Amino acid sequence: MLSISSSSSTGRTFETRDPRTGDVIASVAEGDKDDVDLAVRAARKAFDHGEWPRMSGSERGRIMTRFADLVEQHADELAALESLDAGKHPAVTKAVDVGNAAGSLRYFAGAADKIHGETLKMQGQFQGYTLREPLGVAGFIIPWNFPTTMFAIKVAPALAAGCTMVVKPAEQTPLSALYLANLAKKAGIPDGVINVVPGFGPTAGAAIASHMDVDMVSFTGSTEVGRLIMEASARSNLKPVSLELGGKSPLIIFDDADLDMAVELAISANLFNKGEACVAASRVYVQEGIYDQFEKKLAERMKSWVVGDPFNDPRVNQGPQVDTTQYERVLSYIDHGKREGATVLTGGRPLGQNGYYIEPTVFINVKEDMTIAKEEIFGPVMCLMKFKTVEEAIERANDTRYGLGAGVMTRELDVANRVVRSVRAGVVWVNCYFAMGSDVPFGGRKMSGFGKDEGMHALDKFLAVKSVVTPLKGSPWM
Ligand code: ADP
Repeated sequence: MLSISSSSSTGRTFETRDPRTGDVIASVAEGDKDDVDLAVRAARKAFDHGEWPRMSGSERGRIMTRFADLVEQHADELAALESLDAGKHPAVTKAVDVGNAAGSLRYFAGAADKIHGETLKMQGQFQGYTLREPLGVAGFIIPWNFPTTMFAIKVAPALAAGCTMVVKPAEQTPLSALYLANLAKKAGIPDGVINVVPGFGPTAGAAIASHMDVDMVSFTGSTEVGRLIMEASARSNLKPVSLELGGKSPLIIFDDADLDMAVELAISANLFNKGEACVAASRVYVQEGIYDQFEKKLAERMKSWVVGDPFNDPRVNQGPQVDTTQYERVLSYIDHGKREGATVLTGGRPLGQNGYYIEPTVFINVKEDMTIAKEEIFGPVMCLMKFKTVEEAIERANDTRYGLGAGVMTRELDVANRVVRSVRAGVVWVNCYFAMGSDVPFGGRKMSGFGKDEGMHALDKFLAVKSVVTPLKGSPWM
């Protein structure tokens, strides 16, 4: 077991565990309110007096590019850390999570010298212009399912804007954020700009959300905690809040879809990252003409789906759930589904003696008002349902409090366009799923939250628009 810094203000540490076995990997300094205070003070000093907001955008971009290079050079270490800490697949993590993290740093590095205001033609003898100024100290509270990507997609636009920041990684997965902070330092990001405080939500997380000297908070996690973050902002300094919360995303498969491709897409849209993904398409609607064939093929295909230790066996498709709490939560949802009268098509049980493994589970005969069809399960559990018409599919897809993602599979352009425009979600994938990129805004509607990560919209969260007006004398034109 490792010990990672014991310098929290209380001297307390917490253990982070390997979900393959439940064994302790490392003990990590446990940050609390006083540590958050120290981190915010360092970030404030770096913002008010440090070089980061004062250097040119192109110089910030140059340093961020170096950071991206270092992330790529250390992709193996980062992927190994995530695999040990979160039960993720190392090869997939290297390609997807670490790739996205580097991509995001590069994308926003390119944006750092392209932050422009407007010139305003006012009525009367005045001229106006807008400045887009860095907002100040940003607070980030991130989850455990994609720790490296989450760190980068939050931090990168804030860095580009010239902000400084405090980051609290999830208590289940604190290791990669500490490693990334070390790479940031090596890249030349000055001290005080990125401050990582590992710790728990109700202590360290809450201290960030309610801090009077934090200028904005960006959070990714559960809807319940998102609500607490907004409350904390309202009760403290009314800092702007950006929330990326849960989902219960629909995937609608029409009769004309390629059947094999549809089965593969439904599987990956549900089981990628062991179902620990906020945009997982956990409600799959299949049109009645192909429903029976789809169900049969899906059940057949699940037989060759391998659950096991992703670190040591390259054939493995699905590793363990992140920790014992999530494992038990997912199993209790599965029990709920059985008790509510849904039928288990495949899976439905825990796997093995050690670690937090769960069989990939498909429920059929699911009714819209069942808990498993309404609540986010965040595990390898799919609800498979049948529909008749486009109208019905759209209505049922929208019959949720969430609005994060959606997918549609059809060769009919008119049907695709209609669904795309009718489904209330932040992202809609047509004949694909989970395809994301640094330039694609990501974030939800309804109880999935608001505010975008990725894309140029993300930059706006870290920039305050200031209007400046001066009198105008003797201008030859107006
Ligand atoms: P999950 O239930 O999937 O673990 P959470 O929403 O509880 O998701 O956690 C996401 C992040 O929010 C984590 O970093 C966690 O520590 C943090 N968090 C949890 N509770 C609070 C809280 N009361 N205030 C601020 N942050 C919190």
